[in-house]
Amino acid sequence: MKAKSQLHGLPSYKPGKPIEEVKRELGLAKVVKLASNENPYGASPNAAKAIQEAATQTAVYPDGYAAVIREKVAAKIGVNENQLVFGNGSDEVIQFLCRAFLCPETNTVTADPTFSQYKLNATIEGAEVREVPSVNGVHDLDAMLEAIDDNTRIVWVCNPNNPSGTYVDERAFVSFLERVPSHVLVVSDEAYYEYVTVEDYPETLPLLEKYDNLMVLRTFSKAYGLAALRIGYGVANPSLISLIDPVRPPFNNTTFAHVAAVAALEDDAFISSCVEKNTEALKQFEQFCKQHALNYYPSQTNFILIDFNRPGDEIFDFLLKKGFIVRSGQALGFPTCVRISVGTEEENKELFTVLEEMLTSKPVGQ
Ligand SMILES: *Cc1c(COP(=O)(O)O)cnc(C)c1O
Repeated sequence: MKAKSQLHGLPSYKPGKPIEEVKRELGLAKVVKLASNENPYGASPNAAKAIQEAATQTAVYPDGYAAVIREKVAAKIGVNENQLVFGNGSDEVIQFLCRAFLCPETNTVTADPTFSQYKLNATIEGAEVREVPSVNGVHDLDAMLEAIDDNTRIVWVCNPNNPSGTYVDERAFVSFLERVPSHVLVVSDEAYYEYVTVEDYPETLPLLEKYDNLMVLRTFSKAYGLAALRIGYGVANPSLISLIDPVRPPFNNTTFAHVAAVAALEDDAFISSCVEKNTEALKQFEQFCKQHALNYYPSQTNFILIDFNRPGDEIFDFLLKKGFIVRSGQALGFPTCVRISVGTEEENKELFTVLEEMLTSKPVGQ
């Protein structure tokens, strides 16, 4: 057999360890997962209710057009229904874009470090990936612009960026968009949009009126707490949507994802309360870092990247034994950091206690 040559040696995605596995392996009664930026408060209770009500609808295919959620999202964010494409998570929309735009003669430009799926999917399509080093965790848009040439098809702006939590501000983004050649698609991946609190974060949807080469990605996996259901979407001009829609598998969202997303979207109070608690918790994380002279990346998300000045894997192992699953920065491009998803108030407090213990005792591994 002869698979695409770029698949040889390509590693599979390594997700955070599942809670049950860690409990079993380490004999722990309680394990807290702060590794995948999920909502620690779950989802709006209306989402589970909607799934229960739809529970008998397993024999029929879902609505391939996603009509109901399409109408809801369009009304909610103020775009037309033909400006949306739904994915099995926004991960799948990233895959659509790579399939639609990239092939061996082309290249794509990303920040480095950034979300791993841009590079992975581009590599599978055989495209060249141009990774442009970030500055203090923030995309270097000028350098990214310089990396663009005639063969560039997509440039990825992860905003706020995963894994650094930092953001590109409105002025920088608009000035970038103005200078990107019109043959290049600019993707603004806004998976953490709901959590952003700064005033100068770019509102990208109004920019669609002027820019045909812009696509905005949003998801129900993070603040909306529906990661298990896999639903996210892209917003762009109708011409771009109809161009990539043939790439989409016909029934790529489940009926349950549709009904839950509709219910979740109606519960604004749930989102604002989660965002409020997240903002408060981030302040406590920052406070903790300052107290212990740890550098951190200022976050506009529901996670924080902290520099412990030691190999991230050591901190990861230490926390794992204490019942906390986090992400080591070593696999994320920040070797001395760990990325910690914000938990509930109680979880964060317990984490601070454990970290305090570590920081005030003898160095890890000695
Ligand atoms: C989590 C995440 C996504 C993907 O989320 P889905 O669950 O696939 O919707 C996309 N981009 C970034 C930056 C993320 O952190």
